[in-house]
Amino acid sequence: MADAVTGATIPRERVEAVVERERERFVRDHARSRELHERGAEALLAGVPMNWMTRWPGPFPIYFSEAKGARIIDVDGNEYADLCLGDTGAMTGHSPPATVAAATERLGRGITTMLPSEDALDVGSEMERRFGLRHWQFTLSATDANRFAIRLCREITGRPRILVFNHCYHGTVDETFASLKEGRVVPRHGSVGPPVDVELTTRVVEFNDVDALERELGVGDVASVLAEPALTNVGIVLPDDGYHDRLREITRATGTLLIIDETHTLSCGPGGYTAAEGLEPDLLTIGKPIAGGIPTGAYGMTDEVAARVLEGTTWDEADVGGIGGTLAGNALSLTAVRATLAKVLTDEAFERMIALAERFEGAVSGSIAEHGLPWQVTRLGCRAEYMFAPERPRTGGEAAAEFDPDLDGLMHLYMLNRGVLMTPFHMMALMSPATTEADVDRHSEAFAAAAEELSAD
Ligand code: PMP
Repeated sequence: MADAVTGATIPRERVEAVVERERERFVRDHARSRELHERGAEALLAGVPMNWMTRWPGPFPIYFSEAKGARIIDVDGNEYADLCLGDTGAMTGHSPPATVAAATERLGRGITTMLPSEDALDVGSEMERRFGLRHWQFTLSATDANRFAIRLCREITGRPRILVFNHCYHGTVDETFASLKEGRVVPRHGSVGPPVDVELTTRVVEFNDVDALERELGVGDVASVLAEPALTNVGIVLPDDGYHDRLREITRATGTLLIIDETHTLSCGPGGYTAAEGLEPDLLTIGKPIAGGIPTGAYGMTDEVAARVLEGTTWDEADVGGIGGTLAGNALSLTAVRATLAKVLTDEAFERMIALAERFEGAVSGSIAEHGLPWQVTRLGCRAEYMFAPERPRTGGEAAAEFDPDLDGLMHLYMLNRGVLMTPFHMMALMSPATTEADVDRHSEAFAAAAEELSAD
């Protein structure tokens, strides 16, 4: 067993030397990706169709040719166990056969019409069974689900602000691009072209800070708290015991609505964290994998919220009221949701997926302990993540302060070179119904090798 080291005492020259070696290997193994990226720069901004695609380690992104189940093959013929799964958009595994079959059949019979299709009814009942809320609406993304949920909360409470947690992420929703800096609400670092001062729209507190929550909601101007049940976009930050009870008590006591965003925490089971832990949100939002990768988001609400929404809706103006999307609720998306929920993200599938994440967690924590590394692994159902921090953070602020871009870049590259794709931005791994124990073990072996190299005397 190696002597204990701390993140700070892993010599940076060692980190740099490993990165240098891994970059050379990456460039050698990805000649065609490099060529495509250079060509892409002629027609695409930064050579990619979407800006995040530059956020991979290595001098250029990998271009993929095929993704099936939990496997990706790139244009150079390299194969990867995909633990990124489109940052949850492909938590079903890529192109799940049941979704593909249903969507293919639908494609020939009308894709989008502005009329409801019968699939919507089954989908609504299944969402109610899973999440315990009725009155569903569909969107094209989780971002839109959050945006519309916030609008509705503002409308029915007559209050101007929302409250979010420091370092949350809920999609490209203007009001959520707010951070805490020395007790003040400021635009999130990197926020592009904020339309209005976030101090006017948003209150921000640290996750798990009950006193701050009570103080900020006590002012009485917050329409809704928009919360992930555990933070998942700054590493995983779990709620303290009893935190959700307090959140619910304080929101109720102050007349504030509670929106739970289950987009990532669906990893906890068929009904997400909400069903697994018995939460009682007023509204629930979701998106990403529920249609197997076909664009769809959704939001549902309680009877009471629905009654208030219906009372306030001006039906004659519904098309221009600020809640919409021409393609939202289209027949293709709803067929895909129906098939995905009925046949892919089933109760049984979650059991398998969660067991795989436990296997991942066990192997990573074993290597961390064996090599005396001051790192953490945290699991949330079928999602797991390691952080280069001696203690598990309790707030978004703490988690962000512990982020180590050098080690993060190194580990992503190390994994890519050994056929494992991890979620960019942090060391997140997700299991799909198509993931196998061999996929998990491929990561475990690479992780053990990296831990050994980094902790060697
Ligand atoms: N909510 C959460 C918790 C998310 O993590 C994300 C995206 N990472 C979203 C909403 C937005 O999803 P989309 O970008 O698909 O709209």
